[in-house]
Amino acid sequence: MSLEYVIGAFLFISNSDSLTLSRMKHHPDLYKLDILNFAQTSSTLGGELPLSGFERLKIEDARPSPEESVSWTLKGEQRKTQNGTPQIWLHLKANTHIVLTCQRCLELAPFELAVDRHFRFVDSEETALAQDDENEEDLLALDRKFNALELIEDELIMNLPLVPRHQACHNSVLEGLAQEIQNDPQFQRPNPFAALEKLKKRTKT
Ligand SMILES: [Zn+2]
Repeated sequence: MSLEYVIGAFLFISNSDSLTLSRMKHHPDLYKLDILNFAQTSSTLGGELPLSGFERLKIEDARPSPEESVSWTLKGEQRKTQNGTPQIWLHLKANTHIVLTCQRCLELAPFELAVDRHFRFVDSEETALAQDDENEEDLLALDRKFNALELIEDELIMNLPLVPRHQACHNSVLEGLAQEIQNDPQFQRPNPFAALEKLKKRTKT
C-alpha cells in the first residue's frame, strides 16, 4: 500500500468525522437539555442529523448510508395531575432508514426505524427504577443536562428488527434452496421419540 494511499484514507476519515461533528453541533442543546425548563416552557426542538453520526448504530451487518439522515422532534410538556403536582413529559419522534443483511437470503434489505414515545421524568434514578414495575409509562430520571441525543440513539437501536428479513426475498432461488434443505430428511434431526417408538416395537417382538 503506498504512503499516498494511507494518507488519503486518513484524510478522508478525519474529514468525515469533523463533518459529522460540525453537523451535530447545530443542536448543541441536544447534549445537555434542561428537561425541566424545556417542559415548563412547552418547548419543541427538531431537525435532521446524519445517521452516520450515531456510532452505536454502526453494528455488524448494519450499513448506514452516508446520505441517510435521522429526522427527529422533541416536545416538552408539563401536565397537571389530579393532586396538583405537575408532571414533566417529553415526546420523542425519530425516523430513519437503515440497510441490514436479510437473514433469509443474505442480501441487503432496507428497514424503516420509527420512534414515537412519551417519557415521564421523575426526580431520581431510584424513583424511576422503583416505579418502573408498577407503571406502564416510560420513566426517566430528571436531569438538567439531559443527553437527548443518546436517547434518540437508544430508541433507534431498540427499533432495529431482531431478525432482519425481507417481507419477500428477491432471491427466490436461494430461498427455494433453503426451503429444500429444511424439508430434506437428510438434514433433519432425528426425533428422539420416534427412536423410542422403534425401540419399543423391537422389545415387543
Ligand atoms: Zn431476503
